[in-house]
This record gives sequence, C-alpha cells and structure tokens, in this order.
Amino acid sequence: MSYDDSNIFARILRGEIPAKKVYEDDHVLAFEDISPKAPVHTLVIPKGPYKDLAALAAQGTDAELAALVRALAKVAEEKQTADSGYRVICNTGEDGGQEVDHVHFHVLGGKPVGRMIS
Ligand code: ADP
Repeated sequence: MSYDDSNIFARILRGEIPAKKVYEDDHVLAFEDISPKAPVHTLVIPKGPYKDLAALAAQGTDAELAALVRALAKVAEEKQTADSGYRVICNTGEDGGQEVDHVHFHVLGGKPVGRMIS
C-alpha cells in the first residue's frame, strides 16, 4: 500500500487540525498524544510521507533518520523522563496495532512502562 495523505498525522502536518507541539525541526514533529496512556505520551513523526517503518527505512534520507532518533531522545529529555526511564514504541501494521498510516513513535514515561505486552 502506498502512502495516503488523508491520514490524521498528515493533516496535523499540514496544519488542518491542531496538535499540542512539543518539538519541531526541519524533518520531525513531536506532539502530545490525544489519548495519553502514561503521564508522558508524546508522538514523534517524520515530516516526510512514510507509511511505516519499512517505508521510512527504504525511502528516508540519512538526515531524516538522524533527526528522528535525536528528536526521540530530546523529547524524553524535555519531558523530564530521560533519567527515570521511558519506552519508545513503533506499532507497525495490523498485528502491530498501527492505527494511523503515517509512521510514528510513541514516547511513554512518567511511570513504570517497561512491560513488553500489556
Ligand atoms: P494505537 O491506537 O494502537 O496506539 P497507533 O500506534 O497507530 O495505534 O497510534 C495512534 C496514536 O495516535 C494513538 O495513541 C492515538 O491516541 C493517537 N492520536 C489519534 N489522533 C490523534 C490526534 N488528532 N492528535 C494526537 N494524537 C492522536
């Protein structure tokens, strides 16, 4: 399946619907999850049109990939959960529970969040 730009995160990137921004640079946007599962629950997305992790890995530039990893660590630091620990999740495809077809990384923290499956 190719990228469909009608997904909700594409709409956030275009400014069509609001989001509570946490961090932004040329390649990445981070914003609060609308339905937080932990005291810290921020979503980090590349600005490029990548449906999932495989598309990002295959089509993303090295600059985009580097910016994404740095943004994940930066968000954890800014949300003051880096020292106590946090969890990064990228749900992928149907079995992975991916609901929005724009690749995204959940940063979860602010309480113990280490269980692999809940
Ligand atoms: P899941 O719902 O199983 O976690 P995903 O990994 O695809 O599936 O995550 C999509 C996330 O996007 C959910 O945590 C959901 O709460 C969040 N979300 C949906 N719409 C918005 C929105 N408008 N603004 C912020 N977060 C949103």
